[in-house]
Amino acid sequence: MPGFLEDPIEKLPGLGSVRAGLLKKELRIERVGDLLEHYPYRYIDKTLVLPIREAIKKQDPVLIQGVLGPLVYQGVGRKKRLTALFRDETGSVELVWFQGHRMIEDLLHPGMRYHAFGKPSVFRNKATMVHPEMESVTETGRPNLHFEPMYSTTEALTKKGLDARGLRRLIKLVLDRLPGNHPAENLSAEILQKYRLSDRPQAVRQVHFPPDETTLRAARQRLKFEELFFIQLELLLLKRQRHATLAGFPFEEVGAHFNRFYREFLPFELTEAQKRVVREIRRDLGSGHQMNRLLQGDVGSGKTVVALLSMLIAMDNGFQACMLAPTEILAQQHFQSLQELVKGMGIRIGFLTGSIKGKTRKMTLEYLADGTLHLLVGTHALLEDQVRFKNLGLAIIDEQHRFGVAQRAALWKKSAPFPPHILVMTATPIPRTLALTIYGDLDISIIDELPPGRKPVHTELWYENKRMRLIGFMKEQIALGRQVYVVYPLIEESETLDLLDLQKGAESLQREFPMPQYQFSIVHGKMTADVKDFEMNRFLKRETQIMVATTVIEVGVNVPNASVMVIENAERFGLSQLHQLRGRVGRGADQSYCILMTSGRLSEEARLRLHTMCRTNDGFEIAEVDLRLRGPGDMEGTRQSGTQPLRIADLREDGPILQSARVCAAEILDKDEKLVLEEHMPLRNHLRWKRHSQGTWSRIS
Ligand code: ADP
Ligand code: MG
Repeated sequence: MPGFLEDPIEKLPGLGSVRAGLLKKELRIERVGDLLEHYPYRYIDKTLVLPIREAIKKQDPVLIQGVLGPLVYQGVGRKKRLTALFRDETGSVELVWFQGHRMIEDLLHPGMRYHAFGKPSVFRNKATMVHPEMESVTETGRPNLHFEPMYSTTEALTKKGLDARGLRRLIKLVLDRLPGNHPAENLSAEILQKYRLSDRPQAVRQVHFPPDETTLRAARQRLKFEELFFIQLELLLLKRQRHATLAGFPFEEVGAHFNRFYREFLPFELTEAQKRVVREIRRDLGSGHQMNRLLQGDVGSGKTVVALLSMLIAMDNGFQACMLAPTEILAQQHFQSLQELVKGMGIRIGFLTGSIKGKTRKMTLEYLADGTLHLLVGTHALLEDQVRFKNLGLAIIDEQHRFGVAQRAALWKKSAPFPPHILVMTATPIPRTLALTIYGDLDISIIDELPPGRKPVHTELWYENKRMRLIGFMKEQIALGRQVYVVYPLIEESETLDLLDLQKGAESLQREFPMPQYQFSIVHGKMTADVKDFEMNRFLKRETQIMVATTVIEVGVNVPNASVMVIENAERFGLSQLHQLRGRVGRGADQSYCILMTSGRLSEEARLRLHTMCRTNDGFEIAEVDLRLRGPGDMEGTRQSGTQPLRIADLREDGPILQSARVCAAEILDKDEKLVLEEHMPLRNHLRWKRHSQGTWSRIS
């Protein structure tokens, strides 16, 4: 192993500590080898040599080939420039240099043939190309660099000369010094053969300096596989380790509570998807290992009853269970719906949030500790030290995004000798490729079916000219006894401005909907939790008909009587937000509506977002579009997960590669769980290399 790939980046000759520091800070390139994994994000195609007559009509950089005329100085002072006529059989263009005259005079020889690459411009009928890249024509008649790699960089790096060109030079420097069999292969010969992958030393060279398109494609394919494979290998290792070391309470009984509820109390028939998911959970709980399962389901898909059934299994095995929600209101709603579902079964459910104080709190804690309470529903407050269970066996976490590592640890402390089983429920569907990459070490259950008889929310995109019609429509719906949400965007950077939007909007609405006939709830981020809850509750109790809000109502709130969701400036919302917001209606028996209001001209992307909303109600489909539009880095759930961005694979298109990489990783671990076989040494080495840079992957549960 040439040690220098593992060397800190500042050891590269000529780089210096300032630029090395910047590379670390800006691009997280810490070791010389990391530089090689900073792959080009695109290539400038220099395979196509255009005739000059064609080339000068283009707006983009073009490659031309011709004979260089004499170098001539023109102008004086700051306008002084070096020029040369460059011609082929079809026409000519003037090459212009404002700087570096000495060097150009040294390097270029009039009368010789060159390739020139640059952006043509035409001014007063004269075609020029400023500061073209020049390369003398080789014997083959083709430029050396057919595909020129472009590297992402930052402003700070560019200022220090590390623009795409500078990075290219550095990478070339490293590759030139590297023995031909390095960077060392990190996959086994068997994998290479089975998946027909090119070998690593070659692929790395080719991805940076591809000789042709076919080779480039093969190199990229190999490196994408490698990247996704090692992520999956790591996740599956983690999963197996946890499985091996973390015993869990074996819930072997599916007994009285579960069966009685199922037969006598369940108010509807479970959907097939719900049944399947319950079976998956049952299997986990009975396995003797700790369950770590992620339950994905669209809004309204019926996750609550699945949670309840799981909790009943805990009870059947003599354990308590708890359910955590991110907000007071959501906790309250869960508490109420659970109580309603089990009414008459003699199940005792406690409720604990920050606002439960004094005697009630004291009693709740006491009953929890002595086992009087079977289930506990609450918020973060439930994680405090004073909250002690008699025997906690299962914790259900709703809307996981808001729970971090510390909370998880607090939860684990509450049960002994094993950690509780964990079921995490998300409300925002995530595309499968993304789920596998972020949550690949968890087991995933998906409810991909809505209960029967749901009317999809009818969604339309309206422009400002329908404002009067909107008001009329709202009045109609309110006259029918329905309630209406009007939502304004909240963008953190301009909080005051958004608040103004909301206040102005609310005022003009209040003119259209005068008191006392119409009542408003107004909720925004600048309010304290108490005031928000008070306003929410008025809406819940139907004391108000119109809820004007910023996105605070996004998560989980259930007001079945609300049938209209008006979203102002809808173009400013992301897809998953829009979908979440729309999910607030369509919860009752009646037809519901979502009106997307927009005023301005729409960007291409905004148009696609809004049209997607009008076209479909399917959260998974919407998540796929979202992924395509925004890329995985910006998706809900990715940012919070602490996952490293991918360097070369693209989850939007590399689903099939991901799939085979995961299968491949699983097969290897089936055969060699601890990666001790000789043939797996390269895998082990690479994991060690990777871990050094990224720390451990922190998981939600
Ligand atoms: P979410 O997955 O968004 O949490 P909920 O659990 O709140 O969804 O369920 C939404 C609504 O659908 C509730 O009113 C619930 O009672 C109802 N529901 C759930 N499962 C079924 C089913 N299988 N058949 C009919 N209604 C159902
Ligand atoms: Mg829910």
